[in-house]
Amino acid sequence: YSGKKTSQAISDNIAQMMVKDFQSIPAVVDESMTVYDAICHMFLEDVGSLFVLDKNSMLSGVLSRKDFLRTSIGNHDLNKIPVHMIMTRMPNITYCLKEDTLFEVAKKLMNRQIDSLPVVKEGKEGLEVIGRITKTNITRAFLSLADDHDL
Ligand code: ADP
Repeated sequence: YSGKKTSQAISDNIAQMMVKDFQSIPAVVDESMTVYDAICHMFLEDVGSLFVLDKNSMLSGVLSRKDFLRTSIGNHDLNKIPVHMIMTRMPNITYCLKEDTLFEVAKKLMNRQIDSLPVVKEGKEGLEVIGRITKTNITRAFLSLADDHDL
């Protein structure tokens, strides 16, 4: 392989990396869950963000570590606040589809300064959460280039 051929092959490979091939299982909670229980859930699931579902099981919010920290340093009873009070809510959620490329997702993560996106399927009643893409998935994809190209 010449250097030029290698870089062409790598850019072809990047352009073909799809969300569906690198996504993780989403961690979801109900809108009515308390902040306290959601914090426990985040630890148990070992994730950095939780997706919140409405009563039709459609995407309604996102909860990150900073959302929990902000609420925790306020003078609140975490057992009395439901997560829908503190989450980032629709329509302000950035999401992706499983047919999107990882490159598009990486750009969204950087532009919005966030760590993860829900992977959704558009339904009649809203967005169904079918996966999760985080900076970790992007890093894993980056490393897979090294395997594919003997770097
Ligand atoms: P952390 O709080 O761990 O730094 P993020 O940087 O992902 O995590 O979150 C920062 C803020 O952006 C939080 O208020 C969170 O609710 C919000 N946020 C996280 N992911 C999304 C998303 N996909 N769409 C919209 N807002 C998001």
